[in-house]
Amino acid sequence: MNEISLADFYLTMQVLDNLDAGVVILDENYNVCAWNTFMQAYSSISNVEIIGKSLFEVVPDLPESWLQSKIKSTFKLRMRSFSAWEDRPWVFRFLNFCPISGSSDIMFQNMTLTPLRSLSGEYKHICLTITDVTDIAKNKNHLHESNKQLTYLSITDRLTQLYNRGHWENCLADAFDYCHQTQIPATLIMFDIDYFKRVNDTYGHVAGDGVIKVIADVLLRTKRQTDIAGRYGGEEFGIILPGTSAELAGYFTERLRNRIEQETVFDDQRGVIKVTISLGVCEWNSTLTDYKSWLEKSDLALYESKKRGRNTTTIINSDNCFKNSKGEFVLSNNNEHMPIK
Ligand code: GH3
Ligand code: MG
Ligand code: MG
Repeated sequence: MNEISLADFYLTMQVLDNLDAGVVILDENYNVCAWNTFMQAYSSISNVEIIGKSLFEVVPDLPESWLQSKIKSTFKLRMRSFSAWEDRPWVFRFLNFCPISGSSDIMFQNMTLTPLRSLSGEYKHICLTITDVTDIAKNKNHLHESNKQLTYLSITDRLTQLYNRGHWENCLADAFDYCHQTQIPATLIMFDIDYFKRVNDTYGHVAGDGVIKVIADVLLRTKRQTDIAGRYGGEEFGIILPGTSAELAGYFTERLRNRIEQETVFDDQRGVIKVTISLGVCEWNSTLTDYKSWLEKSDLALYESKKRGRNTTTIINSDNCFKNSKGEFVLSNNNEHMPIK
């Protein structure tokens, strides 16, 4: 090496050592040819310990087979390649000290692999550049978590943790479109707590809220994972049962109705509160013009259940007839009805 190139080399080494990034040069056998100050500081492995040795023998916890295949393909293609923290948070297990929290976290890293051309034009070395992207990663993860939380809050009813009305209606509109496109039925169930005003009047609004919460819990325990439950109004709920006929939905409504009838809510001052629900069931059919008409039909069936004396389920069909106790679909028969209140 002549005097000028030695001086250049000296300057280059200083640049490498002062970079706020890790620089590693490897030969084709993964032997380390350069290991800058950044790498020494974060790995606690000095130049003397690693130069001339295989990277994988000296550095613990490396993703060996992944990194080797990445290096091989970079050599083969003679093109730079990249590893982003989003895909692989870290390549070298470095700890980053956080002065504010006083804790150490693993450093998130991006890595670039650059094939190096020698003076004779051969590609026998590769340069790994490691950048610390912990701040970016943490901020992005934090933002992602906050967005998730905001989304959850915007679609969830606070008291019951069911979907709120707005989101549930969007789900219903989607379910309606899906039925319309595929002709695969789904069933909509609306239910309302019976004589709930009395609960509020007797036990107070707070106890009433407790009852609504318990009913939502029973609903969550009774429905399938794929059924979509929402709090439609104060003490009115809706459930969409995808891919389910009204007849099959009847098994669900009976189980739910029975469980709620048997449930007891304890009020500190006045003891046990018991409630029942009335339900309306409507299977999707092609006479329905939009999701709102589906809702209206289910509400009609719910209203019929109230008229039939409450604590019961009514199924409505596409001709606006209600299923009676004999399993026949009939027009609303006022003679069968109990007084509304
Ligand atoms: P019905 O059997 O006909 O349904 O009788 P009901 O007394 O339940 O009548 P309705 O469904 O019309 O009344 C709903 C009552 O529920 C009115 C309101 O006082 C009460 N309510 C509505 N939302 C809430 C709520 O979030 N918390 C409490 N505690 N009460 C509510
Ligand atoms: Mg109501
Ligand atoms: Mg009610």
